Amino acid sequence: MGYLVKASFNAEPRAYALEGIKTDVEAKLLPATALVRHEKQGFWYSVDQLLGKEPVPSFRYRCKHCKTWLIARKIDVGLQLPCEKCGKMPKVPNIEREARFMMVTGGVSAALGILVTVCHYYAPLPSAIAVGSRFNLGFIFLILAGLFQFYQGWSRPSQLRLKTPQDSK
Ligand SMILES: [Zn+2]
Repeated sequence: MGYLVKASFNAEPRAYALEGIKTDVEAKLLPATALVRHEKQGFWYSVDQLLGKEPVPSFRYRCKHCKTWLIARKIDVGLQLPCEKCGKMPKVPNIEREARFMMVTGGVSAALGILVTVCHYYAPLPSAIAVGSRFNLGFIFLILAGLFQFYQGWSRPSQLRLKTPQDSK
């Protein structure tokens, strides 16, 4: 479980353990502006955020094993943190990426449903299918489900909230 730390944006990263980061920051061997990421993560953030000295948005997510709601910081995305209920180690999801995925799939489903419904209304494709039949209702359901999915994705990032070190106590 190692971290990579670089003193500035263009500096060469060095491997660190969490304890080592704390010690070196206290000893002023690392500047507060130093950047850090876990070796499992693909994005950098500040050492102050890691150590809880600077507020970081946090969000709720569900343990994929026992479905308990858990809270993680945005900088924990990609890490495996212990679930307080079942003790397993679910990975912290990237809710912003999930939200984009939901918006795209929901938007495409709704657009497809609208297209088919409009086409069928003006030019019934198989003439045996009457307007208002189950065929139409199926696509109206697809539109509603798509819009609902889109809305869920659109509203997800608003679940992020800034958390300061004082709040977590
Ligand atoms: Zn769990």
